[in-house]
Amino acid sequence: SSLFTLDTAKDWLDRFDAAVHEHKAHLTELDSAIGDADHGSNMARGVTAVNQAVAGAAPDTLDEMFKLVGMTLVSSVGGASGPLYGTFFLRFGVDAGATESLDGAGLAAALQAGLGGVAARGKAEQGDKTMIDAMAPALESFAAAIEAGDSLRDAARAAAEAAAKGRDATEPWEARKGRASYLGERSAGHIDPGAASTTLLFEALAAAQS
Ligand code: ADP
Ligand code: MG
Ligand code: MG
Repeated sequence: SSLFTLDTAKDWLDRFDAAVHEHKAHLTELDSAIGDADHGSNMARGVTAVNQAVAGAAPDTLDEMFKLVGMTLVSSVGGASGPLYGTFFLRFGVDAGATESLDGAGLAAALQAGLGGVAARGKAEQGDKTMIDAMAPALESFAAAIEAGDSLRDAARAAAEAAAKGRDATEPWEARKGRASYLGERSAGHIDPGAASTTLLFEALAAAQS
């Protein structure tokens, strides 16, 4: 469809949940190289709590759904990633508003609001070797595709590809934010764990968007 609906949103969250669990060991392995080896378990705990909360509340607007997602992540994940992803979804929900669906431009705007929240909360910018290095290029590609008249599905696929490229680009960089920055130049040579989980988020969106 040409809309991002409540059903698409639910499918997105379900697919993200499945992907995080499938890649939990890998996310933890990435975090063991430049962090404290908990990104897989942090994210798994978060997405499990999210899906329980959403199933229990049966929200009937996008703002209700994503505010709940965000609040659940903030309260259930102890690590830096909880408040950051939590803020992403909170701002996404606020921007989406009390509606049951978004068109491509509306989804682009909500995603952009989410990124704005992450950047404000984490005080990071592109190149700092964080989840933003997957998220920002994903949103640029998404918005460009929508502006060019592509379907939501194609735009979401372009976003997922750009996220993966952004994730891979973090490998040689030194981290300037978060726990990995404590390692200084020893953080180079490893992919950022949060950029890897953000890529899963956009791959899940591409799979959910029909
Ligand atoms: P913690 O570092 O508290 O153990 P996680 O391991 O769950 O939390 O998450 C680490 C990820 O969080 C990093 O790989 C990075 O992508 C992201 N991150 C950390 N600090 C920031 C920040 N200030 N801004 C954006 N993302 C950040
Ligand atoms: Mg960690
Ligand atoms: Mg930790």
